[in-house]
Amino acid sequence: MRGKCLCGEVAFECDAAPVVTVACHCTHCQKTSGSAFSVNAIVPGAAFRLTGAYAVFADQGESGGSVERCFCPKCGSPLASRLGNGMVAVKVGALESQEDVTPALQVWTRSARSWSKALLAAPGFETNPPSA
Ligand SMILES: [Zn+2]
Ligand SMILES: [Zn+2]
Repeated sequence: MRGKCLCGEVAFECDAAPVVTVACHCTHCQKTSGSAFSVNAIVPGAAFRLTGAYAVFADQGESGGSVERCFCPKCGSPLASRLGNGMVAVKVGALESQEDVTPALQVWTRSARSWSKALLAAPGFETNPPSA
C-alpha cells in the first residue's frame, strides 16, 4: 500500500496487507479527521514507513492508550497513527488505491454521531448538487 498527503510533502508505504480495516467513531478520530469518523487500515508497525517532514501529536486515545498521530504540518492531512500495541492505523483517505482496503468493522460506536447510520442512505449526487 502507498499513500500521501494532500500537498505531497509526506508519503508512506506499507509492505503488509491490513489485518483489518475499521471505521472508528471515537471522539479523537472525529476531531483529527474533521468528520464524523475515521476509516483506518490496521497494519503491523514494522511494515510501515513514513517519508518526508511529518509532524507528530502525542495523543492519549479515548481508550487511554498512547496514540502518536502523524500528519503533514504543511497541508494538515492526517496520515497514520502509531498505536501503543505496535500496530499502525493508516488513514485510508490518504491511500493511492481504494482497492487496497475493505472496511469490515466499526469501533467506538458509543461515541458515534447520532446521524452517522442514516448518512449513507441520504440522497447522493455524483458531484455538487445542482443549484436551485
Ligand atoms: Zn501535505
Ligand atoms: Zn478513533
